[in-house]
Amino acid sequence: MRASITCSARVMPEGVYYKALKAEVDVVKGDINNLLWDLAVHRYTLQRVVDILWELDKIPKKSQVHQLFYPLLRSYGFRAHVARNIYTTALTLVKSVKENNGSKPVIRRMTARLDYQDAKVDVGNGVVRIIIRDKWYVLKVKHRREYIERFKGLRWKEVHVKYCNGRLYVSIVFVVKYSPYTPRGLLALDVNLKQIVTYDGASVRRYKTRFIDALSKKGRAEELQKKYPKRWRYNNRILKRIRSLHKRARNIVIDWCRKFAKEIVLGACRHRYAIALEDLSNLYKSMVRNRNTIVWELTMFAYRRLHESVVSKAIEYKIPVVFINPRSTSSTCPRCSTKLVYNHRLALCPKCSFISDRDKVGAMNTWFKALKAYAGELGSLLNAPAVKDETRQSGRTGNEGMKKVIKNIQI
Ligand SMILES: [Zn+2]
Repeated sequence: MRASITCSARVMPEGVYYKALKAEVDVVKGDINNLLWDLAVHRYTLQRVVDILWELDKIPKKSQVHQLFYPLLRSYGFRAHVARNIYTTALTLVKSVKENNGSKPVIRRMTARLDYQDAKVDVGNGVVRIIIRDKWYVLKVKHRREYIERFKGLRWKEVHVKYCNGRLYVSIVFVVKYSPYTPRGLLALDVNLKQIVTYDGASVRRYKTRFIDALSKKGRAEELQKKYPKRWRYNNRILKRIRSLHKRARNIVIDWCRKFAKEIVLGACRHRYAIALEDLSNLYKSMVRNRNTIVWELTMFAYRRLHESVVSKAIEYKIPVVFINPRSTSSTCPRCSTKLVYNHRLALCPKCSFISDRDKVGAMNTWFKALKAYAGELGSLLNAPAVKDETRQSGRTGNEGMKKVIKNIQI
């Protein structure tokens, strides 16, 4: 019984997660041209280390790489930690590409990864000080005050500096401790391109997505490419139009996911619910048959984005998240587990005459699967040493609510 539960659902483990503050920056102290030069040298050096490692028959150990490159990197004027970062990055890059039989990596972006010895972060004032070779630069984060405030009090791990399209960006990685509360109920989500259906054990809610809008933008970009099959790559006007359509499609998805995640997570937090999502790792296999590439690409992108948004918000509000294997979630009856008969999107159970639409069935089944997963976990809690007995009687654990839910279901 336990085995079947663990393979069909997994609860997001508590522990340490990372969260990045990403923003454009202005150089307020130091010359931006010097900084860009430092970044250019950084890119050139990283590429050189990658080139040399690539030519070797056998990938050397980290200590050997250190002996090989450390003096060279120091001679380029890099500080000890940056030098170490450069050869470690090159080593992991070459290793992973060779393992996947890829072609030699080319570093196009002007980026640098800095740790605590080469950067100082002052979240309160929105200021980052960095050093790549021999000069310190002070960068001012250009973002809303409230956004920056969210990172106050968190410990930061590293700073990434990036120059692209004529702008300078930083991404500061913070360490977040995630210890979710014990849920009193569940909120299950069924996601598809048109709408998202939620089910909390009692009521069903539907949210219209904006993924179709994004898809139509992508469709228009593809039409343009078909209309000018040869010209579009070289004609600036068409190229610009195509790029802007893709960008707008992307932005629609990102914005909508962020807004939706916030609404869902705040709602779940108010009721102290856990959130149940479909596990995406199986999605790839089921979608491969779909020949329409733009639909496929956008679906993958939108689903992943939605998951990321919900998960990162859930971490922020300490909400438990459970991932459910989506297998047969829309094909079995949530009431009696018989195989459903479909007429278009309308499902009918031949045994108990349950009738509903596909998305609602998906949400309900996800909810039941998540409940089973939690019931299993609660079972193990109940079997645990009797420390919990007193607290349970005084109703302080918060498991009470969940137990009630489970009892109701059994009745
Ligand atoms: Zn049924």
